[in-house]
Amino acid sequence: MIEEQVPLSRFTTLGTGGPARWFGKPETLDQLAEALTWAAERGASVSVVGLGSNLLVADEGVDGLVLKLAGELAAAEVDRDRVLAGAGVPLAVCLHRARAASLGRLEFACAIPGTVGGAVKMNAGAYGSDIAGVLERALVVSASRTEWRTPAELGLQYRRSCLGEGEVVARAELRLTQRPVDEIKAIVSEMQSQRKAAQPTNKRTFGSVFKNPEHELTAGRMLEACGLRGHRIGGAQISPRHANFIENADGARSADAIALMSEARRRALEKFGVTLEHEVQLLGGLVLPAV
Ligand SMILES: Cc1cc2nc3c(=O)[nH]c(=O)nc-3n(C[C@H](O)[C@H](O)[C@H](O)COP(=O)(O)OP(=O)(O)OC[C@H]3O[C@@H](n4cnc5c(N)ncnc54)[C@H](O)[C@@H]3O)c2cc1C
Repeated sequence: MIEEQVPLSRFTTLGTGGPARWFGKPETLDQLAEALTWAAERGASVSVVGLGSNLLVADEGVDGLVLKLAGELAAAEVDRDRVLAGAGVPLAVCLHRARAASLGRLEFACAIPGTVGGAVKMNAGAYGSDIAGVLERALVVSASRTEWRTPAELGLQYRRSCLGEGEVVARAELRLTQRPVDEIKAIVSEMQSQRKAAQPTNKRTFGSVFKNPEHELTAGRMLEACGLRGHRIGGAQISPRHANFIENADGARSADAIALMSEARRRALEKFGVTLEHEVQLLGGLVLPAV
């Protein structure tokens, strides 16, 4: 069933963004195909929200169909050494299932508050591992076809894939390896402590704002050197803890975050000659002005 004018702010971790003109929650592959056909018949754009943890949605909203996978498309089960996941399932659930089955290699996902589909789209990763390293194949559905793709066919590289407009990851299969549960718990606990020590884990953010450039400094260190820690525009603030995070300090709008990102890019170019590329995905009519 397609709803109209559904606010997207509640589907993003930053908590900003206007409504989707149309919004659907397909629970099966058939329902997903129906929604995509519905959009194609109207010439409407299609986008997907996972857990909105790397997403900035325009304050004016999205003039198209926005999908959130649910039901069997948001569930996961273990089959021998593989996790078979609907793309809408949180990585945390996959990690939980894997740990219960004594399957390791997905521990890095404890740091990533997104879904499997969002992780495939972004090739999400942490602590030297990424989804490309555990993904066997993903089922990609569009209005015109449905096909399984390997990581190579998905073009997975550092925080990017070659998934096109209107292509929805519906399912994914992750291949893991046997590991004692205590070892998995110890790895996860160590990663979580490192995370808490370095990042604003108790604030509303969308994770890393910019990808790390090819430079001796990370994006965060660069922005820190530009004096941007704590810099605020409207209700959005560059995290005082980690300069590559933007926090919703108080009633932020997406436009405030865009203004901060523009200022950050301007200063990084001026000081380091580096044009930072945004990692956060922009939805709706949002654009970052050229620097
Ligand atoms: C506190 C915090 C820490 C984070 N740490 C990390 C980290 O260590 N490493 C890291 O890589 N990321 C990190 N992130 C960013 C984010 O969690 C990841 O990018 C995650 O993979 C996004 O998943 P999502 O489901 O939230 O996707 P969303 O943010 O909802 O969407 C991201 C993009 O994926 C697309 N998308 C979502 N689902 C699908 C689908 N089924 N099919 C096709 N496209 C889809 C969206 O349209 C959008 O373009 C962090 C975020 C936060 C808030």
